[in-house]
Amino acid sequence: MTENTKTGSKNWRPSTTLVHGGTMRSPFGETSETLYLTQGFVYDDAQAAEARFNGEDPGYVYSRYANPTVTMFEDRIKALEGAEAARGTASGMAAVTLALMACVKAGDHVVAAKALFGSCRYICETLLPRFGVESTLVDGTDIEQWKAAVRPNTRAMFLESPTNPTLEIIDIAAVAQIAREAGARLVVDNVFATPLFQSPLSLGADVVVYSATKHIDGQGRCLGGVVLSDEEWISDEVMPLIRHTGPHMSPFSAWVLLKGLETLPIRVARQTETAGQIADFLAGQNKVKRLIYPGRDDHPQAEVARRQMRGGSTMLAIEIDGGKEAAFRFTNALEIVRISNNLGDAKSLITHPATTTHQSVGEEARAELGITDGMLRLSVGLEDPLDLLEDVEKALAAV
Ligand SMILES: *Cc1c(COP(=O)(O)O)cnc(C)c1O
Repeated sequence: MTENTKTGSKNWRPSTTLVHGGTMRSPFGETSETLYLTQGFVYDDAQAAEARFNGEDPGYVYSRYANPTVTMFEDRIKALEGAEAARGTASGMAAVTLALMACVKAGDHVVAAKALFGSCRYICETLLPRFGVESTLVDGTDIEQWKAAVRPNTRAMFLESPTNPTLEIIDIAAVAQIAREAGARLVVDNVFATPLFQSPLSLGADVVVYSATKHIDGQGRCLGGVVLSDEEWISDEVMPLIRHTGPHMSPFSAWVLLKGLETLPIRVARQTETAGQIADFLAGQNKVKRLIYPGRDDHPQAEVARRQMRGGSTMLAIEIDGGKEAAFRFTNALEIVRISNNLGDAKSLITHPATTTHQSVGEEARAELGITDGMLRLSVGLEDPLDLLEDVEKALAAV
């Protein structure tokens, strides 16, 4: 390595960090980061191998443990988040599962907000109990419910904010305080806010997780995730799980996601601006019963959003008057916005949560979460805002 900007300078602003942070150049001095597509590493002699394995030489051993391209991704996002340590994973769900498993053992208890990404809810409600970890799901916006759910054996709390798909905002600092008093670690899934608009660690959370599949890639190419926290917890609790169970990020995915980080600020800024324009347009339409957008004053938790977020959202939710039939008619009339359950993409995507992402949670849970049959979730992309507004307006006329 001839040049190693590693975590970069503390004085760099986010956009600079995301272009240069973590870069490790080979002796060839390449401009773009190198893709180290290798499983293992060779040693000059037997003594060198011994030193790698006993930790005297911190070099690489095997890509299930660490890989230079993955390290570059981890150092870059770690610098942006202001975390001591980061570990890349194969997907967002690998990151969530690892983070929660690293907090608990059989006999412990987890408190989580009810409004979770479907698979996150499965981890808390179904998977952890199979291994002797009980969980309580609460209405995340009601701070009293978090307090009331605490037990002597509570070791982790888990939330997303804004939530999927209803974009509720949970007061992270208030939940962090309850977690601290309970001796539990607070894990925040920060996908919807992105690292640019919300910094859970500075609000008192202990762990931040991302599905890098979403805005960090942002162009629909590969899956990835990351767990960020303090150095001690990552090396003592997360690393053994990664080494021995194998959910590490692949070098190829790390390379794609590293390049994704470079353009993250301009993509998210543009998508958020367009989402705000579409939200303002939809808010005034009589076929739209309800519009939920975290950047507007009529959002139910607008005050909390202002306190903990630095921007609105690339996502919005609407409830079309007329239930499932009207929501389907609107969706099918769209020409530019594509139907997909993904989000954070360059392409605008719409999904009907009740029949897709939240079909499996059941009618009762959907009612509790406010996911009605007329609700649609829109992820705003990078198309021209005027084309998107025309598309939405035309689809609304078809309802
Ligand atoms: C997509 C998503 C996940 C899961 O990420 P994958 O990369 O698909 O495994 C977790 N949490 C939230 C909020 C998500 O949007």
